[in-house]
Amino acid sequence: MGQNVRSIIRSLFSHYLRSFPLMAQATTINEGQAAGRDGKSAMINVNGEWMTEDALNAKMKVLADARPITWNNAILLTILHAIAIAGAVTMFSWDGLWLSLILLFTISPVGVTFCYHRMLSHKAFKVPKWLEYTAALIGGLSAQGPIRSWVAAHRIHHRYSDMPGDLHSPRGKGFWFSHMVHLFYDDPRMHDEKIWSKYTPDLNNQKFYLFMDKAWWLVAMSILPVLYYFGGWTYVMWGGPIRVILMLHLTWFVNSATHAWGYRTYPTRDLSRNNWWVGILAAGEGWHNNHHAQANSARHGQRWYEIDVTWYLIWTLEKLGLAWDVKRPRPYVQATSEREDELALGQGVSQ
Ligand SMILES: [Zn+2]
Ligand SMILES: [Zn+2]
Repeated sequence: MGQNVRSIIRSLFSHYLRSFPLMAQATTINEGQAAGRDGKSAMINVNGEWMTEDALNAKMKVLADARPITWNNAILLTILHAIAIAGAVTMFSWDGLWLSLILLFTISPVGVTFCYHRMLSHKAFKVPKWLEYTAALIGGLSAQGPIRSWVAAHRIHHRYSDMPGDLHSPRGKGFWFSHMVHLFYDDPRMHDEKIWSKYTPDLNNQKFYLFMDKAWWLVAMSILPVLYYFGGWTYVMWGGPIRVILMLHLTWFVNSATHAWGYRTYPTRDLSRNNWWVGILAAGEGWHNNHHAQANSARHGQRWYEIDVTWYLIWTLEKLGLAWDVKRPRPYVQATSEREDELALGQGVSQ
């Protein structure tokens, strides 16, 4: 018994500590890409060409640097950060802070994680249309741009994870590039509807999403009059720009921290990691290595300590008859070479 408790504590520590930057460096360096290696040395298979980690980093950096700067994004995000920081300092209020956090931890799990990510991007489950569209409207409050472009960018990320073609890999230009700075670098796949809509054939024929993609900013702003009615400009500031900035960083941590810090359960061909604090803050999205291994699974947390609030929501809806075709992960099996392609493509799910 005592030994069991000790081994559980040891396991938690060794896994959870890797979610912090310094510990991650100490414990997980060069731990990744097992599936992409040739077994002889630290060589990675990049579209059939074997190269070292350093050579791949250099190649990714060159590709990123070739992208022109998008001044619109850079200026817009800088202004939004400036407003949020100035507002937080000059209009500080505990009520406002609580309001901001309540909205953040409602809109982000339901709108972004449940709807944009697991339901729309990965089709991990189905719900009635009224519920799908309601969740999408809630997602619209996150102010993260047109839904189809969000879905397209995410599908592109899974297709090229940490390889040439990925929009936001830490490989090449590092953590901050994967977190936010990649948005300052143009890529036609992010702004050209003709290109990104190729990645969303399942959504292109739904009038609701075509409408949302035109009116997303109106949906995002629709909360402001309500906030003003209940709490004046203080609520507008805390429930508007400050909450939006916090939410953006939370979403971005799923692109950055979970490709940098944490432990790896599956030897996928990317740098994805399971990171407990992103798992908790982003309603289960931190179990990102599990997710890259089995991308279409509705459930990301697989071990008992991998808390996955979004999965609990999907599970409850399924029990209520409001979600079906819920894809579950295969029981945990350490990947073997035969399953590498399957893992890399995230196909290891069952219904
Ligand atoms: Zn990822
Ligand atoms: Zn995903």
